[in-house]
Amino acid sequence: MPIEYATTKLSKRVYSRLIRRIVWELYRYDTSKMREFMKHWDIKVIDSLSADTRFFEHVNTTDGQKINPGIPSGVTGDHVMFLYVNDEKGELYIRQNGKVIAHELCHAVLLCKEGTKSGGWVKWVHDADSRKDFFTIKFWYMWPLWFKTYITVIDVRDLLD
Ligand SMILES: [Zn+2]
Repeated sequence: MPIEYATTKLSKRVYSRLIRRIVWELYRYDTSKMREFMKHWDIKVIDSLSADTRFFEHVNTTDGQKINPGIPSGVTGDHVMFLYVNDEKGELYIRQNGKVIAHELCHAVLLCKEGTKSGGWVKWVHDADSRKDFFTIKFWYMWPLWFKTYITVIDVRDLLD
């Protein structure tokens, strides 16, 4: 499904590329698995400041916390993902938002593999996170010139093999 944006400032082109890139990396560069994932997941990128805060009262993040406007966070459900990001331009935000987006994508790829019953799709991501089991993506983006940034991703790749 196409990624939907409720944002005004960030570059949709850059963020869509970033999301696909993270999924592709998690699947160890398997393009068909990445495409399959993108086809079946409904991903919405939302400005965390503009989102209806009344909604936040009734929803927790995937990690069970309250959603705070202005702090990037995410909610992942069954083939649907809400990514609340800082809707700002620039490298710093790509890096900060990217870390949260990657975290939610880790939950999502594990949900696809294991389903929700065991709870592993939540727990294993946090276990790897507390072990500081990370890998880094070198991400080039053009906006308006070529820039490079690094995105930290929790390494759950072994669990997907
Ligand atoms: Zn989490």
